[in-house]
Amino acid sequence: MLYSDVVNAQRDFYQSGQTKDIHFTLSQLTKLIQVLKANEARLYEAINADFGKSIFETYTTELGLIYHEIKLIKHHLKKWRSPKRVPTDLANWPGKSYIIPEPLGNVLVIGAWNYPYQLSFLPALTALAAGNTVILKPSEIAGHTSKVMTQIINQNFSKGYFHVVEGGVPETNSLLSHRFDKIFFTGSTRVGQLIYEAAAKHLTPVTLELGGKSPTFVLKDAPLKITAKRIVWAKFLNAGQTCVAPDYILVEKSIEKDFLKELATEIDRQFSFKENLPPNYVRIINQNNFNRLIQLVNHEKVYHGGQIISHLKVIKPTILHKVSFEDAVMKEEIFGPVLPVISFTDLDNILTQVKKLSKPLACYIYGKNKKRVDKIINNLSFGGGMVNDSVLYLTNPNLPFGGVGFSGVGAYHGKAGFDTFTHYKSVLKKPFWFEPPFKYPPYKAWKLKILKWIFE
Ligand code: NAD
Repeated sequence: MLYSDVVNAQRDFYQSGQTKDIHFTLSQLTKLIQVLKANEARLYEAINADFGKSIFETYTTELGLIYHEIKLIKHHLKKWRSPKRVPTDLANWPGKSYIIPEPLGNVLVIGAWNYPYQLSFLPALTALAAGNTVILKPSEIAGHTSKVMTQIINQNFSKGYFHVVEGGVPETNSLLSHRFDKIFFTGSTRVGQLIYEAAAKHLTPVTLELGGKSPTFVLKDAPLKITAKRIVWAKFLNAGQTCVAPDYILVEKSIEKDFLKELATEIDRQFSFKENLPPNYVRIINQNNFNRLIQLVNHEKVYHGGQIISHLKVIKPTILHKVSFEDAVMKEEIFGPVLPVISFTDLDNILTQVKKLSKPLACYIYGKNKKRVDKIINNLSFGGGMVNDSVLYLTNPNLPFGGVGFSGVGAYHGKAGFDTFTHYKSVLKKPFWFEPPFKYPPYKAWKLKILKWIFE
């Protein structure tokens, strides 16, 4: 079978027990930082070649988050990896009970292209931190970043410990024909379902970080200038190719007109297209996505933007208004710089409509009335979200990051990431000196009475 060599090398290395040595893990995490730092220029160059991403954004949305996560892990790893003593109940007295963290073993990480470094390295390094070995398969759609990741990792880490495999669907399928102890996938819901199926054959646990249509509520008491500023930044970062980007806006009718004006003003302020492309605006990753996105721009509903620079695969930040749930743009995750705005007059009605859609990865609410904000939080199910800002919640490592329903299975970041790649083994230790007769046959009424007293 293809890739048997690397899979077997990782199995053997895991069985050697070295990955369970915390000193080994910490030294490998330090090495990973050194390797990334030494190759930063190449990493910046590759991502720029893939979709024109600036150094600033690559640092703040990719490398910076990776360094931050390693720092946090190194600080807590000893505690996270230590067995924990827990109380022993009366039925099991006398005894000592422990929860012992244990790595799962050999992990496969499959990455997405839109934040190629972060979405590949964050899960991979967390799996390593928990004591696993990792095969990483980045997305072939961002070919330059996939290549540079392969080179720098495979030159610096042993094949049996951390290895990158380049490729697309056939290569992923070959990898999936092997048995892994864990598969961590980031990508679309459609492919996530295929990964889940393939994993089920080996009863391999999965974490699926998927997408969806993340709503953004703008309530009538939200200060419009700052609300527009924050939404425009979050939506058009990476040209909307962000899994947690605000997908569409639900604004209260009474402020719709003023809010649309503020959105347009803010777009012009953040992205000055007067000459050529602004340096901080990325292009659409490939022709397929570009073609898909331009079909979603209904020119009769364009409020602002709508211009397309085909030879550069650029769609300028676009606001659509007078949108309804029946429009094509509301039927799929947009994943691009097109922002539909739907107005509403009754919060309960709009919540009923949103609840009919699949559970989204994120939800954002802008407004000051705590009762109404909490009503949205408590009525809708979503992976995670924010009040009065967007996207940034995922940078807090104390918040588990993941979806729910069609937007994902499982979570990671910080301790939640460590848990994702860890089996918690329960062990109860008993002494020989105490041997009560209750549990043994022959069963008697007096034995049952004592057991009932203990249990009830
Ligand atoms: P994708 O599902 O097309 O690809 C993801 C990975 O799966 C790639 O490595 C690809 O090579 C592989 N793949 C593709 N088709 C496959 C198949 N038929 N069989 C096996 N493997 C296959 O997703 P994408 O286009 O890279 O990313 C966009 C999607 O990912 C969006 O829906 C977005 O919301 C979601 N996403 C989610 C997160 C998150 O953290 N939840 C982050 C980024 C992107």
